[in-house]
Amino acid sequence: MKPNHNENDTMTSAILVTGGAGYAGSHTVAALLERPDTDVDIVVVDNLSNAYRPEGQKKPEPLRIIEEMTEKTIHFYDIDIRDAAGLCRIFENHNIDCVIHFAALKAVAESVEKPLEYYQANITGTCTLFEVMRKYGVHKLVYSSSCTVYGEPERLPLDEGHPTGAGLTSPYGRSKYFCEEIMKDLCRSDPKWMVISLRYFNPVGAHPSGKIGEDPNGIPNNLMPYISQVAVGRLKELVVFGADYPTVDGTGVRDYIHVVDLAEGHVKAVKLFKQKGFSGFHAVNLGTGTGYSVLQLLSAFEKASGRKIPHRVAGRRAGDIAANVADPALAQRLLGWRAARGLADMCADTWRWQRTHPNGYRGE
Ligand code: UDP
Repeated sequence: MKPNHNENDTMTSAILVTGGAGYAGSHTVAALLERPDTDVDIVVVDNLSNAYRPEGQKKPEPLRIIEEMTEKTIHFYDIDIRDAAGLCRIFENHNIDCVIHFAALKAVAESVEKPLEYYQANITGTCTLFEVMRKYGVHKLVYSSSCTVYGEPERLPLDEGHPTGAGLTSPYGRSKYFCEEIMKDLCRSDPKWMVISLRYFNPVGAHPSGKIGEDPNGIPNNLMPYISQVAVGRLKELVVFGADYPTVDGTGVRDYIHVVDLAEGHVKAVKLFKQKGFSGFHAVNLGTGTGYSVLQLLSAFEKASGRKIPHRVAGRRAGDIAANVADPALAQRLLGWRAARGLADMCADTWRWQRTHPNGYRGE
């Protein structure tokens, strides 16, 4: 692929999005391209481990749809981030200015069964990416982190000053924590690094067009896709994992954040790199500051879909915590970002996507 050239015959600057064909990645690519002021190329690298590309098609389905929606081109490479030579080719072909790094394995329970696969993908992959970035003099990075790094909360809401790394219950969570520590060390080693580690709470929802959304492999582990698959008739009933927590109704409480808000948080983070004097490692929560229980989410989804969702209560899921809520004040102060979409939007947008794509991107 030939690099793009602008009028002055310099290479157009580009943002590299790893894992850009996945759920959070594709919504962020859409958010970047939907902005009228985006004058950068978007380059996606994804190994398609959790994204669908129809046979004979060059680009994964969500990227093809985003190109159609925005009438803009996305450069796509089917490469694993552990492939250093493959990554180098991308940095040779494009004038990469910054990297948004989503590519990772993310199924918490699976990570307990397959720790080496998780550490390989999430840590080796991340270190390989950083080595290539350093080689090409690219030091701006937005990292896809998780509120999991906080472990069992000592206090709520969780602010970024809360300790991280203690009491983590899965290799997935530890891989996110280890990567944050690696990025802190990088920033200590060289002041040129600018790292914003976005600690996501619980991303849910879909693009309001209903054209892109979450398409989990197999039976979903997370609550919102599980509920929406019950609503659409793919799954029989929701199993509520525990109704004896010290919460409003006994079920687990989480800070759900609309994936489009999450995507916009990344756009704001990229903008921050332009701020004079910005450098070093910054961890920032992306959450709403409001928690909802399993039953509250269920009832909001029933309202949005107009369907009754069968459910039964079972025992607690191993490793779960009672409640998790973000303090989103730093995101507002540092990024000028706050969540704009509420629970009703999250449910309505999830339902629009699910009802029009009962089998996700794969169609019938
Ligand atoms: N949950 C549930 N049934 C499910 C999936 C999740 O009751 O099939 C509950 C889970 O125990 C937690 C909440 O829903 O209280 C959110 O779970 P999810 O896996 O979506 O996010 P996480 O636990 O990683 O924050």
